[in-house]
Amino acid sequence: MKVVIIGGGAAGCFASILIASKGHRVVLIEKNEKLGKKIYITGKGRCNLTNAVVGNDFLKNVVTNQKFIMSSLVRFNSNDTMEYFKELGVPLKIERGNRVFPESDKASDITRAMERRMKTLGVEVMLETKVKEIKTLNNAVSGVVLSDGKELMADAVIVATGGKSYSSTGSTGDGYDFAKATGHRIVEPVAALSAMLSSDKALAALSGLSLKNVRLKAIEKNKVVYETEVGEMLFTHEGISGPLALTISSHINRILPQNVKICIDFKPGLDDFALFQRINRDIVSLKSKQFSSLLELLLPSSLINIFAARLKINKTKKVSQLSADERKALCTMLKNFDVCYSQLDDIDKAIVTSGGVNVKDIKPKSMESKIISKLYFIGEVIDVDAHTGGFNLQLAFSTAASCASDF
Ligand SMILES: Cc1cc2nc3c(=O)[nH]c(=O)nc-3n(C[C@H](O)[C@H](O)[C@H](O)COP(=O)(O)OP(=O)(O)OC[C@H]3O[C@@H](n4cnc5c(N)ncnc54)[C@H](O)[C@@H]3O)c2cc1C
Repeated sequence: MKVVIIGGGAAGCFASILIASKGHRVVLIEKNEKLGKKIYITGKGRCNLTNAVVGNDFLKNVVTNQKFIMSSLVRFNSNDTMEYFKELGVPLKIERGNRVFPESDKASDITRAMERRMKTLGVEVMLETKVKEIKTLNNAVSGVVLSDGKELMADAVIVATGGKSYSSTGSTGDGYDFAKATGHRIVEPVAALSAMLSSDKALAALSGLSLKNVRLKAIEKNKVVYETEVGEMLFTHEGISGPLALTISSHINRILPQNVKICIDFKPGLDDFALFQRINRDIVSLKSKQFSSLLELLLPSSLINIFAARLKINKTKKVSQLSADERKALCTMLKNFDVCYSQLDDIDKAIVTSGGVNVKDIKPKSMESKIISKLYFIGEVIDVDAHTGGFNLQLAFSTAASCASDF
């Protein structure tokens, strides 16, 4: 059987290895001058290739279409990925949060290991070659047309073109056009794992401030739609970023920004009552000191001016003169600091794309299209996305493995 794979990213390369090792002829077409351009920048150049959790612990980190992806994850989970890459000659290590990296801290080791195996197996790689169309005949795939007009016949075609973010790595959303042109539905692609912009220009003064042991909360119409675990975040010159902000962005990317409020809980270990008591104790111990001294006990110093301004309490006011309402307002602001979220950052700067080929048009066990036989979709082009921590690359490997199981 001749199999054409469009896209030489994580999903395409991995699928090429698994399918070629079954003795099929595999042609992998990549429009860039090299394979795996996105892999090189994953995990800040270290490639967090999977997360060493399985079952429900993995699944709860999948944000979109958990049910669809279940059989793929059962077929090929993070243990399988680790085994596979060790067998390809890449020693691995597990870090905080079960994140798995190559021992060398070099993302290039992951790409090179796959390239080596592809070569051994005789995968034909066509670099600097762009697919512009997928050919079908009687509801079955028949080949692809390249941008120079040349046609390549194929018994099966696998679309592994990625999403729409970091387009400089080659993921420019071509797969969505292929899917649409062959009768598939597309869920509108939006940014996921994205930085968030703020309308409060005063927050720019906090740029670079990183917070640990805080929690983020997204509220839509007075209802908490998502609350993160306790963790880290970062103020940027335009808003917020860092692990917690990226996580929460994936849960609000389909809600109109004007309907969402994003709040920081600076004291996630204390409930409102316990915090109120703590503030009162602090006030007693500070005696005749100023309000700014109380804020210093509770917050990083760069936040003091913003808190005082928002609370409309003079920094020099004596703590003993703070009214009960002022103490309560301080307590509320510490638990619900509004970041004045205005919108997500541009999709091109998002870590992943949410949306893509509608999973209703894909068979969950094989990733084959339900509309065109022997046409497959794998990796980020599908409407499945997950949290940071190695989960998205695992989705690329798992969907590639499901697809390969059909050959
Ligand atoms: C900065 C950054 C850091 C990340 N870090 C991590 C991490 O540490 N861990 C993690 O799990 N995930 C991480 N991700 C997400 C992860 O990299 C992606 O989810 C994953 O690489 C998707 O793989 P893919 O093969 O589906 O798509 P891609 O890697 O995007 O590959 C698609 C390929 O298809 C090619 N292509 C597209 N159209 C055509 C065409 N018409 N003809 C020919 N070729 C075409 C592209 O050039 C590209 O090479 C990160 C993402 C970014 C942007």
